[in-house]
Amino acid sequence: MKCPVCGGDCVDTAHDILLATGQVFSPCPACHGRILDKRAPLKNRFYEPPCTCGKRFIDEVFAHIYVVMVEEGIFSGTEPLAKVGMPLIHPGFVMRVPPYLPARSLVLVSAVVTSEVAVRLVNEVPEVRGVVRSGDFVPGIADPELGVAPRTYDLLAGCDVRASIFPTSSGSLVLYQQQSQIHIEFPRNYNPKIESVERKITLNTQWFVDAACGVGTLGLTAARLGVPHIIMNDAWFSAAFWSAFNISVNSEFLAIDEVVLLRTYEEMKDRPVGRMPEKIAETRGRQSIEVYQGDLADLYRVLPGVPVLTALDLFNKEDAGLIQHITALYREHVSGEVFIP
Ligand SMILES: [Zn+2]
Ligand SMILES: [Zn+2]
Repeated sequence: MKCPVCGGDCVDTAHDILLATGQVFSPCPACHGRILDKRAPLKNRFYEPPCTCGKRFIDEVFAHIYVVMVEEGIFSGTEPLAKVGMPLIHPGFVMRVPPYLPARSLVLVSAVVTSEVAVRLVNEVPEVRGVVRSGDFVPGIADPELGVAPRTYDLLAGCDVRASIFPTSSGSLVLYQQQSQIHIEFPRNYNPKIESVERKITLNTQWFVDAACGVGTLGLTAARLGVPHIIMNDAWFSAAFWSAFNISVNSEFLAIDEVVLLRTYEEMKDRPVGRMPEKIAETRGRQSIEVYQGDLADLYRVLPGVPVLTALDLFNKEDAGLIQHITALYREHVSGEVFIP
């Protein structure tokens, strides 16, 4: 599979990703790594190179990045190691012990990095896959009513496409996303949203709507459970695009023959916020999965005239009044149960 963002080989099928997870972050007998205090500065500006097996303990990779940041004048050497940034591992899943990282398995999200240093990190630190400069906001659409223009982080070097593995009762899902464009969600052993979708779905569920689908976690959970008709929607281009892409990634778990992408990544990037729902992907085969990009207030226009089970996973969960308002608007036109996962 070709990466839609960089054209490289950063994406694989769920099959290949899941096959590799058993050993991907395990050390070889020769691997060794120091556990470093993340709240303290790095001592002696020293780091170990990767092992001959190609892996290196995550703290040692952070030490390497820290040294580059000191050499480049971003750090004076008194900053704590954690100031380097947030590591996002590819593929991300629940780990019992810190990982030994193989090449190109780390997307660094950093508030302090510059473009020049990002290029150096991608060229010199083999584990780094991409470098993203973060801001003090959540990337993507933060306002479900689409009144506030979305903001994104900056991909400075490499590629920031990576996958997370989410366990469901019917098996794992592999979900890709572009880290500069969307909020960061970590896989956990217990995922209350996935569980609430699994509780709501019965053998009688014919239609499932993931009305604010993000990268497709809940819609694909329903699809993995065998619901015959799934509709996913998100106003944000990056969410809708990756939902569609993630159907392909996980297609072996689904009763589909083909995923038809009706829009390219570039076309969607040119229309970052969708208003009137536009279909961007659909499947052929026994299971029908459609992805739309649009305002969920208008989603009823493309829904079937039968009761549907709708998950409304909105970003601003703490604003109860807003959630109620949006849910009420949606219910005016759509029959069937609506739930907040
Ligand atoms: Zn890529
Ligand atoms: Zn090793």
